[in-house]
Amino acid sequence: MGDTSGASLPSGPDGKKRRVCYFYEPSIGDYYYGQGHPMKPHRIRMAHNLVVHYSLHRLMEVNRPFPAGPKDIRLFHSDDYVEFLSSVTPETLHDHTHYRHLKRFNVGQDCPVFEGLFPFCQASAGGSIGAAVKLNRGDADIALNWAGGLHHAKKSEASGFCYVNDIVLGILELLKVHRRVLYVDIDVHHGDGVEEAFFTTDRVMTVSFHKFGDFFPGTGHLQDIGHGSGKYYALNVPLNDGMDDDSFRGMFQPIIQKVMDVYQPDAVVLQCGADSLSGDRLGCFNLSVKGHADCLRFLRSFNVPLMVLGGGGYTIRNVARCWCYETAVALGVEPENKLPYNEYYEYFGPDYTLHVEPSNMENQNKPKDLEQMRNVLLEQLSRIIHVPSVQFQARPPDTQVPDEGEEDMDQKPKPRIWNGDDDESESEEEEKPRHISIDDKPRHISIVIDQSMTNINTRIKIEIKEEKEVEENSSSIKMESQ
Ligand SMILES: [Zn+2]
Repeated sequence: MGDTSGASLPSGPDGKKRRVCYFYEPSIGDYYYGQGHPMKPHRIRMAHNLVVHYSLHRLMEVNRPFPAGPKDIRLFHSDDYVEFLSSVTPETLHDHTHYRHLKRFNVGQDCPVFEGLFPFCQASAGGSIGAAVKLNRGDADIALNWAGGLHHAKKSEASGFCYVNDIVLGILELLKVHRRVLYVDIDVHHGDGVEEAFFTTDRVMTVSFHKFGDFFPGTGHLQDIGHGSGKYYALNVPLNDGMDDDSFRGMFQPIIQKVMDVYQPDAVVLQCGADSLSGDRLGCFNLSVKGHADCLRFLRSFNVPLMVLGGGGYTIRNVARCWCYETAVALGVEPENKLPYNEYYEYFGPDYTLHVEPSNMENQNKPKDLEQMRNVLLEQLSRIIHVPSVQFQARPPDTQVPDEGEEDMDQKPKPRIWNGDDDESESEEEEKPRHISIDDKPRHISIVIDQSMTNINTRIKIEIKEEKEVEENSSSIKMESQ
């Protein structure tokens, strides 16, 4: 791609203002995975603090998410897994009932049981579902949730510090209104949980740029392209250590441009995992904050409803810098490089600047190899000749979130769960209409959403694949309209 303007796209269509909606749970920074654990929810509070001290909050609608209820979470996750997550505590961890499930649900080591685990998941997922509802209603052009982006969580299994896949839940909400949703993942790790959930459908296209080869989670090979109706609708860009801004842009922009041309999504979800930044504690890429944010800038320029989520990111001062700057990019403003004084000022020394220089680490991605891979991917994309025609006649109702405008965080009431009850227990009657129950035996199940509740004809077919290529307790979701 010709690029004459340095790190940024030329202004022009991009200069247009966007209505931005931002989700933030004030207690999010208090959750603590445990001593020595690299995942620190505090980084989200640090990012928010920068956002506020740059006065970016005045330029957008700020919402506190309504926590996702168990029944919202069960739209993707299995009943027994959600029951486990919602009941386990550090104190009851070793009780007989919980202890026998730890291994089965992969909870314990990387994904520890910590105080407030379930409310943390509810806030993260509630933000992404709330963001989808805002986009569905046309109330915002861009919706941000830095507590979301937890892309490794599986239907019945925690993975890679992720328990509830807020992204899958947010995309399922978007699919109520939008025929095709594009998911783009720039975390240094493969977006395996989201890819797996939509591996067999053409209604969601997943594109993941990640480090591949002796690196968690081990999936995301160039030749993993989707299955059945989803064939060619999963795209993987496996990369080596040391990806810098120029080489990343040289892959991202041509591939995403082609995806936008051939797939023509009605909505886009961007996972902005910040562990692809230079100097990350777990990552091995060499992106600057500007280079990372250029991915958002590029997607924003298409002016398609856009959900922007967090994800990984383990050098927390840089995560805060990155997500604050990306909030500004969403808003179309350029903040000063000199950081304003803020509650966590000492973290940002010795330079106290918003931007950080990449390091001099070697880029192990050879231009020739990148070019060859880009050509393979562009060729693969050219096999999608036509925009997939999805029958789409009726619109399911939005997930219920009470109406609210911009709010003062200090005066907010206690958060309530999705169905409006203050009590977390839910009556059986409320449960029935959208309750999805599946067992673990490989077979096909069709679930008809109760008409009296939803007023529509949408069938959600849940396929549990038997094929070897899909892992044992994985599932794919396919939505069809009748
Ligand atoms: Zn990651």
